[in-house]
Amino acid sequence: PITMETEKVSPSRSETLFEQARAVIPGGVNSPVRAFRGVGGTPLFIRSAHGPYMTDVDGKRYVDYIGSWGPMILGHAHPEVLAAIHSVIERGTSFGAPTELEVEIAELIVSLVPSIEKVRMVSSGTEATMAAIRVARGFTGRRKIVKFIGCYHGHGDAFLVKAGSGVATLGLPDSPGVPAEVSQQTITVPYNDLAAVEAAFAAYPDDIAAVIVEPVVGNMGCVPPRPGYLQGLRDLTQKHGAVLIFDEVMTGFRLARGGAQELYGVLPDMTCLGKVMGGGLPAAAYGGRADIMDCVAPAGPVYQAGTLSGNPVAMTAGLTTLRLLQQPGVYEQLDRQTKKVSEGLLQLIRKAGLPATLNRVGSMFTIFFTDGEVTDWDSASKSDTALFGRFFHAMLHEGVYLPPSQYEAAFMGLAHTDEVVEATLAAAERALDKLAY
Ligand code: PLP
Repeated sequence: PITMETEKVSPSRSETLFEQARAVIPGGVNSPVRAFRGVGGTPLFIRSAHGPYMTDVDGKRYVDYIGSWGPMILGHAHPEVLAAIHSVIERGTSFGAPTELEVEIAELIVSLVPSIEKVRMVSSGTEATMAAIRVARGFTGRRKIVKFIGCYHGHGDAFLVKAGSGVATLGLPDSPGVPAEVSQQTITVPYNDLAAVEAAFAAYPDDIAAVIVEPVVGNMGCVPPRPGYLQGLRDLTQKHGAVLIFDEVMTGFRLARGGAQELYGVLPDMTCLGKVMGGGLPAAAYGGRADIMDCVAPAGPVYQAGTLSGNPVAMTAGLTTLRLLQQPGVYEQLDRQTKKVSEGLLQLIRKAGLPATLNRVGSMFTIFFTDGEVTDWDSASKSDTALFGRFFHAMLHEGVYLPPSQYEAAFMGLAHTDEVVEATLAAAERALDKLAY
């Protein structure tokens, strides 16, 4: 018999590192979605990133449509951000005492975000949302919060109930370790359904402290609010004396200078911010009406603190990023380029005979592999995730790095030029050709 000599393919550097990582880090990653469980395969280990590109440890370059899951709106390693970080780092990296930079960024945020009168810095979006509901509870003296199925607000106990992308991707229902007594205080209702919120208020007329919402959802893939939905939430919370919290960790400074609240003209009582405002360093914030924020210690009795809160290096990256976003035409460019690439991809996928639905708001978008309209978690979860996984890997092979889950929004940045968009669409044509076989 003829024996075939099998070609020995040596493992890539990413595969080797992933094996090493799994021995010492749970699942080999420091945040679950990075592990590629939603699409299969080995995650890429990244060595460096510049502009719209990331380069892995094997030296292959990818067009990046994740942007560190939102922050890198200016593109990676922006020279002005790097220069600002370099200059401030010379003066020390953490003082545990107030700095001028914190006043500057607070003033800028208050001037940009329509509903924020006072703001407190924290180090992650999770901290921002956890603090916001504590303050809302302290302010109202009530216990319950309403959240929407498929919305993600970080990994605080109260939010790990029907929490969208990361949890859904892993197929975990709710997380063990969250006491039932805690999750029972969280009422979950479908997104884009005002009647369900009304029913929640009818069931607990005097016990709902806050309604927290991603004004444009990113964590079941991109799902925009129906016309009038956000205003409906505003009216209902006002009527029932509950605090309306917009979780703008993803949408803040991304969809407009003042975030989704500016874009849709609806003002919440409190807002959570993160991602873009840290310019790629750990910074986040929560803010809102002065009477509510004055409940926060030391002005008021609701405790919240942080060793690295308002860290000067993170504040500098954030301030520089926010200032660069004040240039004219920035949001128009983001919108134009994202429209071009997302509609181009949609056309190519449909031309290949595959089911696809595009949702986009500004520089956030998702192509769902389903024919139906996607307006909430139920309709999002009708997507063909196996097909998405094949498309994801075909694109990765062609040098385009999409979010490794059907239920995560893709993000564009200012470094995604026409040339980058064209290269992405050419890659998609090749990828879809191969998928057909
Ligand atoms: N809120 C929203 C809307 C998010 O998208 C995220 C993170 O993806 C968070 C909160 C949590 O932020 P972090 O990962 O910085 O804790």
